[in-house]
Amino acid sequence: MAASQDQVALAVDIGGTKFAAAIVTPDGNIVVTRRVPTPQTDDANALFDALGSAIDATLQAAGLSFADPRLMPGIGVGTAAPLDLTTGTLSPVNIPGWRLFPLRDRLIARYGVPVGMIGDAVAVAIGEHWKGAAKGNANVLGMVVSTGVGGGLILGGRVLPGATGNAGHIGHASVDPAGPVCVCGGIGCLEAIASGLSLAAWAREDGFSGGDGSAAAVAAAAASGDEVALAAFRRAGDALGMAIAGAVTLLDLDLVVIGGGVAAAGAVLFEPLAAAYSRYAALAFAAEPRIVPAALGATAGLIGAAAVVLAPDAYWPGGDRPR
Ligand SMILES: [Zn+2]
Repeated sequence: MAASQDQVALAVDIGGTKFAAAIVTPDGNIVVTRRVPTPQTDDANALFDALGSAIDATLQAAGLSFADPRLMPGIGVGTAAPLDLTTGTLSPVNIPGWRLFPLRDRLIARYGVPVGMIGDAVAVAIGEHWKGAAKGNANVLGMVVSTGVGGGLILGGRVLPGATGNAGHIGHASVDPAGPVCVCGGIGCLEAIASGLSLAAWAREDGFSGGDGSAAAVAAAAASGDEVALAAFRRAGDALGMAIAGAVTLLDLDLVVIGGGVAAAGAVLFEPLAAAYSRYAALAFAAEPRIVPAALGATAGLIGAAAVVLAPDAYWPGGDRPR
C-alpha cells in the first residue's frame, strides 16, 4: 500500500564522502535535507553516530520525531555498495570502517520504525525514473559516475534486485582484459578506468598537473582544451560506451541515465562515450543512442531511497520490497 498523503519518509544516502538525510513527501519531493561529512575513521560506531546526527538534525529541522505517526512509513536507505539484503548488512568499498555492518538492525533498534535498504546507484535509478530524466521509460539503467562507478536497473517498471540486492554493478564488469587491477580485486573493471579517481590518476601519470590533480581539475582542463585531460576523458568515455553497449544489448533497455560528478563534465565525456557506444552496439534494437545525463543531481539518491518505504508496490510489486 502506498503511503497516504500526510505521511512522509526519512531518506538516507550513505556515501564515502558524505552522509545525507532528508524528509521526502509521497509525491517524491524533498522538504528538508541535512548532510554531514563521512568520518574518516575505522570505528564502526563513530560512523553510525555521525549518520544518527544527520538523521536527528533533519528531524529537528522538520519539527518531527519518530513517535510522529506521519513518519510511520519509516526509513529508506540508499547506500554505497556492496550490501546484503538477506542480512541487512553493508560493506561499502569506500567506507572501510563498515564491514558486514548490521545497519538495518541498528537503525531499527535506534528509531523503532521500518527500514528498507538499496544500493545508492539503484536509488539514483529510481529517483531519475520517478522524478527525473528517465520518467516514462520502463527499462532503465541508472548510473553514477563519480568517485566510483555504480549502476541500478529498472526492468519492466520494477527494480531488479538480483539475488542479494546487488544487480546493476556495471562498474565492476570488466571492459579490458589487459586493464588495471581494480579496488574490488578484479581486472580491467569499468570503475578502474572511468571513475573520477581512476581517470585523474591516469591523467597525472600522463603528466597532468593542473589544479589539485582531482577529476574536477581534469574536467576543468579538458573544457579548456588540455590534451592530456581530453585524452583521460576519451579513455573513460570509451570504457563507458563499451560497458553500456553490453548492458543495452543484454537487457534491451529504453534508456541509460548517467549522473555523478564525472558525468557533470558534459560533452568531453558524453561525446567519446556516444562514439564508443555506436561502435559496440551493432544490433538494430540496441543501435539507437539512448544515453542521457541525469536531471536531479545529488537529490536523486535521496528521492529513490524514499521510494523503498513510500512506493514499495510500484517498484517491488508482490510484497518483495527490500528490508
Ligand atoms: Zn572492480
